[in-house]
Amino acid sequence: MNDFEGLSYRALEAALEDAGINPVHAKPLFAAIQRRLLGADLSEAEGILPPVQRWLASGQSPKCCELEQTGYTPSADGFTEKYLLRLAEGAEVEAVRMGFPGRFTACLSSQVGCAMGCVFCATGQMGFSRHLTAGEIVAQAHHVERSLRASHGDRLRNIVMMGMGEPLHNFEPLMEALDILTDNRGLNIGPARVAVSTVGHIPGIQKLARHPKRYSLAVSLHGASDAERGALIPVNKKWPLAELVEACREYSAIKRARVFFAWTLIGGVNDSADHAHRLAALLTGMDAHVNLIPLNATEGYEGEAPAEENVREFQRIIQESGLPSTVRQRRGIDVAAGCGQLKAKRRVRAAAGP
Ligand code: SAH
Ligand code: SF4
Repeated sequence: MNDFEGLSYRALEAALEDAGINPVHAKPLFAAIQRRLLGADLSEAEGILPPVQRWLASGQSPKCCELEQTGYTPSADGFTEKYLLRLAEGAEVEAVRMGFPGRFTACLSSQVGCAMGCVFCATGQMGFSRHLTAGEIVAQAHHVERSLRASHGDRLRNIVMMGMGEPLHNFEPLMEALDILTDNRGLNIGPARVAVSTVGHIPGIQKLARHPKRYSLAVSLHGASDAERGALIPVNKKWPLAELVEACREYSAIKRARVFFAWTLIGGVNDSADHAHRLAALLTGMDAHVNLIPLNATEGYEGEAPAEENVREFQRIIQESGLPSTVRQRRGIDVAAGCGQLKAKRRVRAAAGP
């Protein structure tokens, strides 16, 4: 059974009807779950009437998703925080809160581990355990929103699916979760403020282009030829570069939206002026933005962060070609050290003993 957090408004109405309860009760119940974030205290909420209270007490209704916080790292800036969250069976995923007052972003996970195996990525190095449910994805956002309400009296404005896992490999639960988080009866995040970051899962990009809501698409490139990209991202063999760029052009045309491209800069591997020129050529004519991410070194990969001057020169070339570009801010980098790293570090510590 799906958790309460993973039920859309319509699915909640259907669940009430199945239980013989008038679906009009969905309104206060959805607000209690998705806006007031009451979690386990639902039955005591104002506006929840006896038939629904009885259902909640009966053991027949769905439950709220319990994500226990088992790890927490604040950063020096006071805004960025990283949480390790335990799922029902004990597996753990990460969520990160980052940003500034009025512009807070949650970075969420879509899977436990990842099946894509990118060599530089801590999550890829773990392998794949399982997909997250819609409820588990929504519950991560709730965790971040609760922390923001408590510490800053603020709320989430943006969501990025850049935590653990490949979101488009878990398409249906992802769409259910994002449709709930953008519901104006819930947290009401603007769809354009939700970024789905993908390794380049072409069938997923094609489905996203045809989804009714217009989410932002971010595509991880890291290489401008099949040989170079394939050495970092094994699934490039399945979804080669030319077809990927074509799918992105189609996405941009259908959605009339800018596509964001991520390029993790690895010293001596893909950070030269030549790489920058070839990346610019690849994206010619597209409404595109390039995000440059200096590598965060991981235990399982020998690559190193790029020299700062290479980052600057790379960005200069990209911008000169007419493409807007940003270097991923190192703000809070002390905690948001990169995808899967908090969990990976813990694992190493655990293996090393106390
Ligand atoms: N699976 C999706 C989303 C999660 S990874 C994807 O690959 O796009 C989010 C971003 O972090 C990706 O652009 C990924 O390439 C990048 N990334 C992963 N590990 C990194 C590391 N060690 N250093 C820098 N960037 C990394
Ligand atoms: Fe998976 Fe993204 Fe990491 Fe690649 S970079 S292994 S797709 S999480």
